Amino acid sequence: MSVSFNHLKKGDVAIFGLPFDDFSSFLKGPSKAPKLILEALHNGSMNLSSESGADLGSEGCLQEIGNLEGIKHPRDVIDPIDEILATGASAIALGGDHSLTYGVVKAFSQHYENMTLLHLDAHPDLNDEFDGNRYSHACPFARIMEENLVGRLVQVGIRTMTPHQQEQAQKFGVEVIEMKNWSADIDLKLEGPVFMSFDIDVLDPAFAPGISHHEPGGMSTREAIDFINHQKMNLIGADIMEYNPDRDLNGVTAMVCAKLLKEIAGKIIANFP
Ligand code: MN
Ligand code: MN
Repeated sequence: MSVSFNHLKKGDVAIFGLPFDDFSSFLKGPSKAPKLILEALHNGSMNLSSESGADLGSEGCLQEIGNLEGIKHPRDVIDPIDEILATGASAIALGGDHSLTYGVVKAFSQHYENMTLLHLDAHPDLNDEFDGNRYSHACPFARIMEENLVGRLVQVGIRTMTPHQQEQAQKFGVEVIEMKNWSADIDLKLEGPVFMSFDIDVLDPAFAPGISHHEPGGMSTREAIDFINHQKMNLIGADIMEYNPDRDLNGVTAMVCAKLLKEIAGKIIANFP
């Protein structure tokens, strides 16, 4: 692991990349995303203020600590993220494919009891297995629920529910708010610590074309930001997953990821520690 996190302290927001896409079922590419998201954040075209009023440029606020290298399996990220959280910092992970969220949430579960997992995605990712791989990016939320890593899983923006995944959602007691039933002012009544897993394909591909699985009919960038900022919640960490630079157009999706990173970091800072 090439990251260094000895300097992290309570109240910091640690930002790191997870350059792994081996468990992506359809296309590779997301392993290249973390570096490009941070380049977009710092390309000089936007400042580091969030819409919620957080000044992320102020010294010591965001701690960019590099990529976790050598990932061969989602479980490989558990120990390093556990060490990051042990410093008292919060964390935002930049994927990488969505299989990694199993390891990310497992590490957070070792520090936060009865977490709510707020999952934005076009897909429920609840398959028991996919192409013979139980850790595929189509499966992480099934593994998370089997291991009781969170108290509550709320999925938002789903528009590809299959009969099998409907069964899985019922079996695990998942609260699914499909895109067809979604509205921006919905109040999820989130209590306790909340971890947000943001799959970029929850957005309509018109706003974020740089993803592997185009599923039209999703949120606008504006709707996603308003949704995040309007929820009353104690956000303690997040991941931003599935950006695929190979499918991007003029880096527009990298900028969307950078914008979401600002808003998510601002939301964490508002309540943390
Ligand atoms: Mn996903
Ligand atoms: Mn997805």
